[in-house]
Amino acid sequence: MSQVMSSDTMTISKIEEESWVDVTHITQNQGLILTGFKLQIIRLRLQLRLLWTILKTYPSPLDWMGAFRYMMKLRKEILGGKKIKKAAMINGLIRMGIYTPPWFSSGFNQFIQAQLYDYKQSSHSVNRFTMIFMAITNKCAMKCDHCYHWDELNNPNELSNRELVAMIKTIQKQGVGHIQLSGGEPLMRMDAIEEILQQCGKESEFWLATSGVGLTIDKANHLKSLGLVGVIISLDHFEEAEHNQFRHHPKAFQWVKRAILNADKAGLIVAISSCLTEAMTKDDSISGLMDLVRSWGVNYVQWLEPMDAGHYKGQEVILPPTKIKKIEEWYLRYNFHPEYKEYPIVMYPGYHQRRMGCMFSGKKSVYITANGHVQACPFCQDDFGKFDVEAPENLWNRMKAKGCVRFINGQDSSTFRLV
Ligand code: SF4
Repeated sequence: MSQVMSSDTMTISKIEEESWVDVTHITQNQGLILTGFKLQIIRLRLQLRLLWTILKTYPSPLDWMGAFRYMMKLRKEILGGKKIKKAAMINGLIRMGIYTPPWFSSGFNQFIQAQLYDYKQSSHSVNRFTMIFMAITNKCAMKCDHCYHWDELNNPNELSNRELVAMIKTIQKQGVGHIQLSGGEPLMRMDAIEEILQQCGKESEFWLATSGVGLTIDKANHLKSLGLVGVIISLDHFEEAEHNQFRHHPKAFQWVKRAILNADKAGLIVAISSCLTEAMTKDDSISGLMDLVRSWGVNYVQWLEPMDAGHYKGQEVILPPTKIKKIEEWYLRYNFHPEYKEYPIVMYPGYHQRRMGCMFSGKKSVYITANGHVQACPFCQDDFGKFDVEAPENLWNRMKAKGCVRFINGQDSSTFRLV
């Protein structure tokens, strides 16, 4: 058994006995935010690449124009009619977010092909999914206020490593660019992550969604050596006491900092994911969060809205339209206003869902629980069936037929409540 695997058997409390690192400006390897003229040149190269891909994909000049217009319309919907103003270059690779592969990579070509396929089918094979979210364990040391996994937390009913690998291989045969391993706390099942990366790591990009608890430097180095691309670390408040209270864990904030430091040292890309509760939607809270993440040198931040699922089920947590409007204004400000050009890139799925509809529900993505049940997304928890019991295509089709219950044709249903 490797040293890392044996360290995995350490309990969280033992890990916590290690001395804490005092970290202020944390990262060294998270790269640069590209803006201005440099980015304009890269954007031009990207458009030429897109044109070239279109020419190679469709024989008819009529489709060349149609496909180009379709992609421009898609870009406008995604970016709110604006041009890309920021991208981050990390380890020589450029990304505008964590859910699309690096620009000019073969993965990015596949991503473009999959979008073109929605315009008009071609003879090129395309990925069935842009991304898959997959819980690999129910174990977790925390008790977060917003946990969508609450009903299953620490339930021992989980797929074996062999079953997880078989399931991922089946999905990879259909094509998937990004696989996000979550939980529970995925780091509490290091052996499963190792086996998944060893056996499936080359076909898709793998990321971990983690609270950060347990991401020691040994684990970070080991995961990087097995091909993990990055970690999405949850941070729900810029003040230590508030974050710890939200997560019901006295060292939660310390672990966020340590996990960022260790991931960065190992060469993993770091993104921060924040749940924007009503309290977090005050101006000074959001700017506090963004200032802190910027000071740490992390280049991607994801904003998620609270949903009445799991631990929040039955609570009035869904943000009112006035708050959504404010978040959308901040999203545009941080991503497109020149004054904010040095701030991290914000990824805010709610912005796109309210314009393009939801990409989950079997359309471009699904969520799979730690015991192999398929759901539309982590928050919409209707069970569409178990992966190894039915042909996956039946599960996807059933889900697609129902569609997203909240974002219908890009409109946020005001009557929405999770059941
Ligand atoms: S939200 Fe994540 S870290 Fe928090 S209790 Fe749930 S699974 Fe654990």
